[in-house]
Amino acid sequence: MVGKLDGKVALVTGASSGIGEATALALAAEGAHVALVARRAERLKTLSKQILDNGGLAMPIIADVADEAQAHDMLLKANAEWGRVDILVNNAGVMQLGSIDGANTEEWRSMLNINLLGLMYATHAALPLMKAQGGGHIVNISSTSGREVLVNAAVYAATKFGVGAFSEALRKEVYTDKIRVTLIEPGAVATELGNKIADTGAQEWVKTWLQSKTPLASEDIAAAIVYAVTQPPHVNVNEILLRPTDQQ
Ligand code: NDP
Repeated sequence: MVGKLDGKVALVTGASSGIGEATALALAAEGAHVALVARRAERLKTLSKQILDNGGLAMPIIADVADEAQAHDMLLKANAEWGRVDILVNNAGVMQLGSIDGANTEEWRSMLNINLLGLMYATHAALPLMKAQGGGHIVNISSTSGREVLVNAAVYAATKFGVGAFSEALRKEVYTDKIRVTLIEPGAVATELGNKIADTGAQEWVKTWLQSKTPLASEDIAAAIVYAVTQPPHVNVNEILLRPTDQQ
């Protein structure tokens, strides 16, 4: 079967669950070789096997994107294995919600380090590889929280606004190198993200909010990413914002 991404190499961060896992499967189904990055080794091993069983090619890379050296190494590993990196999907992220007053500032550092700095480190490592090979595509996962700010989401939203700002400057800096940049802004998606919120009140609020609508599935976001990265070379899909139909 001919895939739209045959011969391409992709690296997906946060591939051990949710949107990243679905994206890795979707890219592999289109023929890309996919490097799967996250911290949970067992999950990556299972996903890697699933992709292999489906006739694709995948490689798990255990890395913490918040660690600059690990974020650089993951790109170098994929490049060493397959000789190029065409698509980088910066998806790894965490969400802690709660008021600013009385917040656990460790949660702020974690969100900034993973959602924002991790994405920047990976991009920094990918650019020389993409320039040397004559082009590439960087897909950054933001959120509707990168456009509108809710109470109790100050720092999560700050990271996602940051992803938007970084992506726009990046696009302007690298388009002449044939590197395309796409910002993806999902609304509510049914994943494990909300289950990891430490503030139990905020966790409960997210659960109830999700139950009040038909949320997007991770596969919906994966399909948008596949759309963006399979356009002809002259088309740069800069932004895709997707909300559930019943989300305001
Ligand atoms: P999940 O919790 O299912 O996935 C998060 C992924 O990020 C996991 O694979 C996790 O893997 C990985 N991750 C977290 N920290 C690190 C780290 N330090 N280094 C490497 N990987 C890490 O949630 P989603 O799929 O929902 O989230 C994916 C992205 O989508 C996030 O950026 C999130 O902000 C964004 N998003 C989600 C929405 C939603 O409603 N779910 C809406 C809008 C945006 P591991 O723990 O194994 O390292």
